[in-house]
Amino acid sequence: MQRFNSSRPDRRRAVLVWLALVWPAWIEPALAGGAHAASCPRPGTLGTSRVLAVDAARMPRVGLRSFPDTLPLADHEVVLTFDDGPWPATTSRVLAALAQECVLATFFLIGRSASEHPDMVRRTVAEGHTIGTHTWSHPSLKRIKPEAAIEEIDHGIAAVETALWGQSTTASTLHFFRFPGFESTPATLDLLRSRGIVVFGADLWASDWNRMTPKQELKLITDRLSAAGKGIILLHDTKAQTAAMLPAFLRYLRDNGYHIVHVRPAEPATAGKH
Ligand SMILES: [Zn+2]
Repeated sequence: MQRFNSSRPDRRRAVLVWLALVWPAWIEPALAGGAHAASCPRPGTLGTSRVLAVDAARMPRVGLRSFPDTLPLADHEVVLTFDDGPWPATTSRVLAALAQECVLATFFLIGRSASEHPDMVRRTVAEGHTIGTHTWSHPSLKRIKPEAAIEEIDHGIAAVETALWGQSTTASTLHFFRFPGFESTPATLDLLRSRGIVVFGADLWASDWNRMTPKQELKLITDRLSAAGKGIILLHDTKAQTAAMLPAFLRYLRDNGYHIVHVRPAEPATAGKH
């Protein structure tokens, strides 16, 4: 009792984080996430309509927010992307919602969070999702020294690789990257291109960095999507309002004839050649 009555917020937080880490990791896969691969596709779900291999040589930068080009999507095709995780309490809810609808997405992970929650990184991959990176600690790469910006990119990739495989590799196997706040520099764009890493911007987003109710967020993103018709959608799996909104958003997509496209890096033999 005393432990739970402790006024130390860090202790309470530690208990909550522990519960969030241990509980969903063991219980939820049996209920929802773990069943994903075995039971999908499943009638009545939104599903994943096709896989699009993204080749860095042909599509080095995608997303109309920052670049002139985006992915070759047909009308009513969307790519779901989630930034800033893993954060167990909310990421586990996002994964469960995606599994429920047999939907695959892409997660741009912060290296430091990946190193703190490697089990969530492995679970995300085990459930079929694509992993990209999003720096080590999420600074604006525009506002730090060039060498520090490169270190942020490299450390972020190494941390996610270590979470996945116990060690980092000399040639990255993680071929998707998104800049924090979309803030790139010419030098880092060149560097990523030279390494065969695709830079993802976005075509539309829910502005979920602003506080709003899940209902307000659902209206915002569905209004924007019906105006755009298709695109790469940016959400944050660290946001409770987004985790709460997601089941209704996936149902909206299903009921309104949208199709989920799952992006994957093209085979390394093609993507990593230059
Ligand atoms: Zn971010």
